[in-house]
Amino acid sequence: MTRELKANRLAYNYWHDRIHERVKDERKAELLAPKEPPHPFGAKRLSLEQDFYDHFCRPNVDVIDIKTNPIVAFEPNGIRQQDGTIHELDVIALATGFDSITGGFKNIEIRGLGGEKLSDKWKMGTYTYLGMTTARFPNMYFTYGPQGPTAFSNGPSCNELQADWMVSLIESMKKNGQTRIDPKEENEMNWKTMVNELALKGVRGHTDSWYNGANIPGKPREALNYAGGIPAYIKAISLERDEQYPGFDLQ
Ligand SMILES: Cc1cc2nc3c(=O)[nH]c(=O)nc-3n(C[C@H](O)[C@H](O)[C@H](O)COP(=O)(O)OP(=O)(O)OC[C@H]3O[C@@H](n4cnc5c(N)ncnc54)[C@H](O)[C@@H]3O)c2cc1C
Repeated sequence: MTRELKANRLAYNYWHDRIHERVKDERKAELLAPKEPPHPFGAKRLSLEQDFYDHFCRPNVDVIDIKTNPIVAFEPNGIRQQDGTIHELDVIALATGFDSITGGFKNIEIRGLGGEKLSDKWKMGTYTYLGMTTARFPNMYFTYGPQGPTAFSNGPSCNELQADWMVSLIESMKKNGQTRIDPKEENEMNWKTMVNELALKGVRGHTDSWYNGANIPGKPREALNYAGGIPAYIKAISLERDEQYPGFDLQ
C-alpha cells in the first residue's frame, strides 16, 4: 500500500467513506476527508483516534481550510482569514511547531571538533553514519534519531538493536586499546544518499510531513528516517561490526 498507488487509493476510499458516515455535516466531512486524497493514504501519520471525528458533529466544533483561505492576522478578539472572516476566540492553541527527529538535538548546544556546533553542521541537512554517529563529533552516539529506522519502526526494538551495536563497538575498542571513534565523511554522505533514495521508493518520501522536515518552514526537506526496514538495517550495521568498523577512523 505504501508503494502501489492503486491499492493505496482503495484504502483511502474505504477510510473516506467511514469518515463521511460519522461526520454528518457535508462541508466539515469534505474538509476532513476530501473526495480526492490530498496525499496518499498513510503518507502522513494516521490518527489512531477513537472519537476524534465524532466531535465534529458538535455545533461548537468546526474545521476550516487555511490552504485556500489563509490566516492573515491574530487580532484582539480572534483570528482573521484572508476573506475577512473573523473567528472569535478566548484561547488559541498552536500545534505548528513539531520539530521532529532533529529538533531536540539542535536545541542542545552540542559541540564537536574545533568547537563546531551540531546545529550548524545540520543546518542545511542532516548527516549521520548508520543513523547513530556523525563525523567530527567523535565518541558521540545516539539511538532512535535521524537516519535510523526510528519513526518507521517499533521504538524499543530500534533502541535495543542500536544499543547492542554500540556496546559491541565499545567492547571491541576496549579490547584493542582504542579510545576514539569518528565516522568517515564519505561514509555519512553515502548513508544520507541511501536513506533519501529509500524514502522515495514509497509514498512517504513524496509527501510533505514531519517525516521529512516539511512541516517546519525553513527546515531542510530530507528523509529523516531509514525506510529500508529493520532486517536490512540489522544487515548493514552487522556488516560494519563484522568487518571491524571500516566506516570509522579508530584511534
Ligand atoms: C520517532 C517518533 C516516534 C513517535 N512515536 C509515537 C508513538 O508511538 N505514539 C504517539 O502517540 N506519538 C508518537 N510520536 C509523536 C507523534 O507522531 C507526534 O506528536 C504527532 O504526529 C505530531 O502531530 P502534530 O499535529 O503536533 O504535528 P504535525 O503533524 O507536524 O502538524 C503541524 C502542522 O502545522 C503546520 N504548520 C507549521 N507551521 C505553520 C504555520 N506557520 N502556519 C500554519 N500551519 C503551520 C504544518 O504544516 C503541519 O501541518 C512519535 C514521534 C516521533 C518523532
